[in-house]
Amino acid sequence: MKVPILIPNIFNHPFTYDTDLELKEGDYVIVPFGKTELTGVVWNEFEKNKNKNFIIKKVSRKLEVPSLKKNIIKFLNWFSEYNMIPKGMALKLLLLSSGAVEEVSSKGYEQFKIDIKQNNIELSKNQKNCLKKMNVSNKKFRVHVLQGTTGSGKTMVYFEALKEIINKGFQGLILLPEIGLTGQFQNKFIEFFGFKPAVWHSGITKKNKEIIWSGIANDKIKVVIGARSSLFLPFKKLGLIIVDEEHDQSYKQDEGVTYNARDMAISRASFENIPINLITAVPSIETYDNIKKGKYSLSKLDERYLNASLPNYEIINLNNSKLESKSWISKETIEKVNRHLEKKDQVLFFLNRRGFSPHVLCKKCFSSYSCPNCSINLVYHKNKENLLCHYCGYKALLNRDCSKEGKCDFIFSGPGVERISEEVKKIFPTKETTIFSSDTMNKKNSTETLNKIINNEIQILIGTQLISKGFHFPSLNCIVVVDIDLSSQGHDLRGAEKNLQLYHQLSGRAGRTGKPATVYFQTYNLDTKMITDITNKDPDIFLAKELEIRRENNLPPFQRFIALIITGSNQSELEKEAYKFKVFIESAIEGKVLGPVNAPIFRLKRKFRARLLVRGQKSIKVQNSLAKMIQKFKFPSGMKLTVDVDPINFN
Ligand SMILES: [Zn+2]
Ligand SMILES: [Zn+2]
Repeated sequence: MKVPILIPNIFNHPFTYDTDLELKEGDYVIVPFGKTELTGVVWNEFEKNKNKNFIIKKVSRKLEVPSLKKNIIKFLNWFSEYNMIPKGMALKLLLLSSGAVEEVSSKGYEQFKIDIKQNNIELSKNQKNCLKKMNVSNKKFRVHVLQGTTGSGKTMVYFEALKEIINKGFQGLILLPEIGLTGQFQNKFIEFFGFKPAVWHSGITKKNKEIIWSGIANDKIKVVIGARSSLFLPFKKLGLIIVDEEHDQSYKQDEGVTYNARDMAISRASFENIPINLITAVPSIETYDNIKKGKYSLSKLDERYLNASLPNYEIINLNNSKLESKSWISKETIEKVNRHLEKKDQVLFFLNRRGFSPHVLCKKCFSSYSCPNCSINLVYHKNKENLLCHYCGYKALLNRDCSKEGKCDFIFSGPGVERISEEVKKIFPTKETTIFSSDTMNKKNSTETLNKIINNEIQILIGTQLISKGFHFPSLNCIVVVDIDLSSQGHDLRGAEKNLQLYHQLSGRAGRTGKPATVYFQTYNLDTKMITDITNKDPDIFLAKELEIRRENNLPPFQRFIALIITGSNQSELEKEAYKFKVFIESAIEGKVLGPVNAPIFRLKRKFRARLLVRGQKSIKVQNSLAKMIQKFKFPSGMKLTVDVDPINFN
């Protein structure tokens, strides 16, 4: 018998094998491939192009793993077509290090055994209403959005919905944008359910991955809390998907295989014909559009838990209270912060810039420190005593000679969190402070720091956007936005939306336990309309306006965008080739081609980068026609094309 076997590699089609075994679609097998053996899956169709003279080899053996469900195979085929990724690479996302796990001792699963215990958490009337709306027609595919202010208790509503699904014998998946960092969410889960969920992200051990992968395939594990990649686990009896913080842009995977995990979760739910719940304080523009069109149902939780109110907003006009040189915190701000500290409020100084200074320059020779691999300034990290490229990781020491006059004499322009931290320590010498950024919070002892913050043993935080990601700090009632920078909106069509999400999430960290809280914006810009917009208590006003702008300009979600990034080491050759490629595809695809232009980060990791943008109708025809043409075009060696469907970043 001949069988089509898909292998986790760059091929977009299965290979034909011969076998005497009884094999059916979805079975995991070991097959010879070249000089090695690989794990593959019996696919649902043969390779279409059959005029090749390969010798048909025999399947080595069948693996003792529950076979992959038909609807997952269909989902992977669609995933590959939509994101323009070879089918083999889509399968690779589902396998574990390109393999399948045959056997795990049943002891392994025991730690995740479901054992729902009674809790004394009582839903409010409002929460109960949301749950009711969420559970309408939850036996088949439908998308429900639970929109609620930060701190309004959305989690308890979807936990309750999940409990019902587990009680019916199904599996559930909760997707979270940030997960490796903190046990706060797991603790909340255990408090509600009384058992430990399986947690899935790139940082867990290989052993744990094997247990979870196999437990999911065998239906021995019922609940997974996971990052993007958990979406590809081979669930045997999936009954519900929940995407928490659905608006979060980190659901988009930008490197390697590019896809948007929120959107792919929705399509997986549709292939599985199961319900999916999207949870958010402020929906993404795409989700908002689908709510307005009536494609998604909606429930709203408007009140905050314990009747806590949202923080107030105050603008501190830096034109009135001049900053001293090398200082970024105004006298007026210091007075306000002191009043909060007297009341035992915790204070956060927010600045979305890691390190000490984003730009180092010599007073004598005027040359600045930039990355030799990327067209980007190096950021000075005083704590680590080096200069760092945030894109490629290049490091340099702060030590350089001017051409003639001896050592360089450096000036640091602009602050990063480390520099603000130095200033804060000078102004408030008796207070405990800490920097909260990916440089300081990714380490083992970060749990200890987190506990100190939760217990208000650290009174002042200096943080980057990392802090906006779902942390619950009970005493945090004062946030100072050191420098509200809204200037980046020019070249990024999502700039306004990104700012709305960031500042909404950020202010949601404050005032979570009922005490009055305030967010202060320091700014020179007297046109504060943008600040008013993004801090409006009704974010729908902003979303409605933004959606209208997108409609008028034919931008997503009204059109499909596909970014094509071509990289190469020779600049002029790259520019020529990018243009040739444009001409080649232009007349043959469903859509318009814009560019080529130099990417905003023109040089990255030693490669020059040119960008093209395809704009077309929202139809898979755009991808299909483009894929056909890409296949026919041969780039010179050393040049590489990356395709990004529905791009979020335009770097
Ligand atoms: Zn670099
Ligand atoms: Zn110099």
